[in-house]
Amino acid sequence: MALIKPKNPKIKGLNEVGRYAIGVQWTDGHDSIYPLDNLRRRCPCDACMGAVEGEIPAASRRLERLSRLGDNAMFLGWIDGHETIYTTRQLRDICRCAYCVAEPERPITGG
Ligand SMILES: [Zn+2]
Ligand SMILES: [Zn+2]
Repeated sequence: MALIKPKNPKIKGLNEVGRYAIGVQWTDGHDSIYPLDNLRRRCPCDACMGAVEGEIPAASRRLERLSRLGDNAMFLGWIDGHETIYTTRQLRDICRCAYCVAEPERPITGG
């Protein structure tokens, strides 16, 4: 059997989930929920480099703006003035839903 390679899912919908998370709906039917704390900690900008250490202040975990940048990226504007842009690929990489966690994209090596 050939491996099922993920195509290139795009963002279909974006919404805030309560005050501490956002939801992303994908064109391939996937649904992701990202805690804001996690999104800030993994901010891929040059300053954060995807690994913010230590405690994240409250103002750095609250959103002022949330928007889509076309189909392939998401913009987050934080209350402390920081700005984060995630590409769809980066977002899918950090999805921690049951489906993504249970099925890591590993090639099956034949023995
Ligand atoms: Zn950053
Ligand atoms: Zn997922």
